[in-house]
Amino acid sequence: MSPKEITKVDMTNEVFKEPIEVIKQLSDNLDLKYTKVIQTYVMEDRRLNLSLEHQGSSYFKGKVVWIGNKKDDTEGSIFCVDTKDELKQINPNAENTEKVILDIKKELIRVKTVSKTKCSVCGKNIEIFDELTGCPICEAKAHKDHLIDWVRMKHSCPVCKKSLNVSSTGVIFID
Ligand SMILES: [Zn+2]
Ligand SMILES: [Zn+2]
Repeated sequence: MSPKEITKVDMTNEVFKEPIEVIKQLSDNLDLKYTKVIQTYVMEDRRLNLSLEHQGSSYFKGKVVWIGNKKDDTEGSIFCVDTKDELKQINPNAENTEKVILDIKKELIRVKTVSKTKCSVCGKNIEIFDELTGCPICEAKAHKDHLIDWVRMKHSCPVCKKSLNVSSTGVIFID
């Protein structure tokens, strides 16, 4: 197969790593214009589409507005997507995303979602719109807000019970 015939690129690893990796992958395949504002890549034209898919059908679609890093500086990329009705942030990670495919012809990022992990605080699934965090000791996963609230109140992990604390910027650390 010649390179011209490649129309789909797997960019799962890049998305799990950091925004610059995603931008590199996108720029290699699409004529993309963006402006870098601190750690965020703002799209200059709203051509790039993003869809969330589950079991082969799309349940969410919009235009990518920006791609940025996580506020707590952990690995991963956040996508801000304009659905025309609202701006939504997508937080793909290994717990909620099976695969991320770039469809070059359609200028579309297809995110195949799964719900693999339940929050160790509330017990509900961690979905792609949710911000994820984990215990730095046992790596139990949780909704970010839920674990931060828990640690602020109890100063320990809900799973391994080890001593934890939260910084003013919302980073959970071993106390
Ligand atoms: Zn929760
Ligand atoms: Zn723990």
